[in-house]
Amino acid sequence: MIYLDNAATTKPNQDVLDTFVKVNQSLYFNPNSPHKAGLQAEQLLQQTKREIKELLQLNNAFEVLFTSGATESNNIALQGIARKKKAFAPEIITSVLEHPSVLEVVRALADEGFCVKYVNITAEGQVDVNHLASMMSDRVGLVTCMHVNNIMGQIQPIPEIAEIVSQYPKAHFHVDAVQAIGKIPLYFNQVDSISLSGHKFNGLKGQGVLFVRNIHQLAPIMYGGGQEFGIRSGTVNLPTNIAIVKAMKSAVLNQASTFNMLQTLKTQLISFIEEFQGVYLNSPEGSSPHIINIAFPGVKGEVLVNAFSKYDVMLSTTSACSSKKASLNEVLLAMGITEKRIEGSIRLSLGSHTTVEDIEDFKAQFIKVYEEIKELLK
Ligand code: PMP
Repeated sequence: MIYLDNAATTKPNQDVLDTFVKVNQSLYFNPNSPHKAGLQAEQLLQQTKREIKELLQLNNAFEVLFTSGATESNNIALQGIARKKKAFAPEIITSVLEHPSVLEVVRALADEGFCVKYVNITAEGQVDVNHLASMMSDRVGLVTCMHVNNIMGQIQPIPEIAEIVSQYPKAHFHVDAVQAIGKIPLYFNQVDSISLSGHKFNGLKGQGVLFVRNIHQLAPIMYGGGQEFGIRSGTVNLPTNIAIVKAMKSAVLNQASTFNMLQTLKTQLISFIEEFQGVYLNSPEGSSPHIINIAFPGVKGEVLVNAFSKYDVMLSTTSACSSKKASLNEVLLAMGITEKRIEGSIRLSLGSHTTVEDIEDFKAQFIKVYEEIKELLK
């Protein structure tokens, strides 16, 4: 199988699996238990939190919350911040580029009475920072933006956005860094909270992290035993947490070499694809090295996914989360891509396990698929 759907999920690293099993066997204790074994678990939890803050160079104002994934991290951060700020800063700014785990949250908050505004998008698929600056005021309590888009791979101008938002002390800046970690250099200066999902960087499904500056800015969105500052109640899952940190260390420490490796493969793939008449590249220049979005106008994305799947190539239409929805993809629409091109778009996504052989095999299968559909291309 040629697996080119790493933006949907990745294969867990063996040492992550081993860590998960080992901690389950030897340190399965509840870190909130007052006995010696519980204290040992608690010490390891705190040490792990210190290690990942150091790894990402986050200062002591940040707290680490382990969650079940970025959907939960985004919900805890966005709902938690918005509710705390409702009385004095009820405006929320985001863009249509965001993942549904952000967009659906802000839509629900709008139903609750928050004022949600969407910043303009440039033709390169980036947040228009001048427009953002013109939208800012003391009424804005929350700005949320992804680091890397999961459909096209464009990298957002996080430093510029952070600089603008930091001029407004009431505004919290949340970054969904799910598709960025391990792929591009991360930028978290002047950022107030960050979401990650373990299975996107060779960790396990059901593992996530939320980093929050000044945790007391958040109102809890669920209630229970009061673990994790009362923000994420429920028995702490130490084996999962230790395992995600293992994955995070290898993603972050190998980021530069992964970037170079992926960039080489992406460049090769793009020059290969460009040789085929009627096939177009959607991903903008300078986008993340792991995502390549291409269009075959005249052929439906689902047809292409099935055609590749027949040859054991796994890729996706727009993203796994939206590929089952019938509507045209909002991210591609926002970038001004034509309907025909959107309908015929597929996403290839590489990961740290992708090899030169995978790409060579993919090219051979691509030629077969192209022969089957070329008469339909417009
Ligand atoms: N944000 C982005 C940018 C994503 O790509 C995803 C996963 N597709 C998520 C958030 C949600 O992550 P999860 O499904 O692991 O909760």
